[in-house]
Amino acid sequence: MPIKADCHIHSHHSGDSDAPMRAQIESALSAGLSALCFTEHYDPVFPYENIPELAPGTFDLDLAAYRDEFLSLQEEYRGRIRLHFGVELGLQPHIARELERWTAAAPDPEFIIGSVHVLDGRDPYYPEVFAGRTDQEVFRSYFEEVLACVKAFHSFQSMGHLDYIVRYGQSGRDALYRPADYLDVADEILKILIEHGIALEINTAPLSKGCRECNPASLIVRRYKELGGERITVGSDAHAPGKIAQYFKTAEQMLLSCGFRYYCVFDHKEPSMLPLTE
Ligand SMILES: [Zn+2]
Ligand SMILES: [Zn+2]
Repeated sequence: MPIKADCHIHSHHSGDSDAPMRAQIESALSAGLSALCFTEHYDPVFPYENIPELAPGTFDLDLAAYRDEFLSLQEEYRGRIRLHFGVELGLQPHIARELERWTAAAPDPEFIIGSVHVLDGRDPYYPEVFAGRTDQEVFRSYFEEVLACVKAFHSFQSMGHLDYIVRYGQSGRDALYRPADYLDVADEILKILIEHGIALEINTAPLSKGCRECNPASLIVRRYKELGGERITVGSDAHAPGKIAQYFKTAEQMLLSCGFRYYCVFDHKEPSMLPLTE
C-alpha cells in the first residue's frame, strides 16, 4: 500500500499555523489517507529573547483546548479516518528533567515527536545561527546537539527531522550538506534511538523548500536500518491543508530503496506496522 498515514502535521493550536483542524482532516481525506496524527508544537523553553520576530510564548501549547477540539472532531470523523492526538516536543539537553516531568504529567498525547528546534540559543529558521561559521560547522554542531538531547531524554516515540538544520544552510540550503561527513555522530544518535525503541521520522517538508532530500537524508535512513532500526514514521510537517501527505510517494520509494518494507503509526504509544508498496 502507499503510505496512508501522515504522522506530523500542525493546526492553529501551533503558534506558527493558522490551519483549522477540520481543514487539515478534510485535506487528509482528499489525499486518500486512512490516518492522521496532529502533532502540535510545544517548546517549553524557547529563546524568545534572541528572536524579536517571535512573540514570547509562540510555541507554548494549550493542551486542554487542543484536546477538547481534537476529541470532538475524532468523534465526528469516526469511521472515515483515524485521528491521533500527538505533540511535537522541542528538545534541549538542559531541559531534560522538565521534559520528563511534562511527559509524565500529560499522559494523553499518544504520540510524541522529539524535535530539536534550537541551536546555541537561536532558532535556525533565522540566519543568525550561521553568523561567522560555515554551513558545515553549523551542521555538525546541530548533530552534536541532537546527540546531547537523545542522551538526556528518551520519553518520545519518533525522532523528528533529524538533520533539520540543513534546510537552512546559507549557501543554498542543503547544497553543502554531505551526510557521510556526520555519520560518526549520526550513528551514535541512531543507536540510542534503537536502544529505546524510538522511531526515525521521514519528514518530507524540505522537498517543498528546494532541498534535495527528506529529513533525514537517505544515507542516515539506511544506517538506521543497518544498525537494526525497524520503526519509521512519515510526516509532511504540513502547517496548511494543501501540504498534507506531500511527497509521500518520494518518501516511500526512498524507504524501499533503503530496505524498509514497513512504516508505522503509533496508537497510544504502541507502534502498528503497515506495509509499504512492494
Ligand atoms: Zn519541527
Ligand atoms: Zn512540525
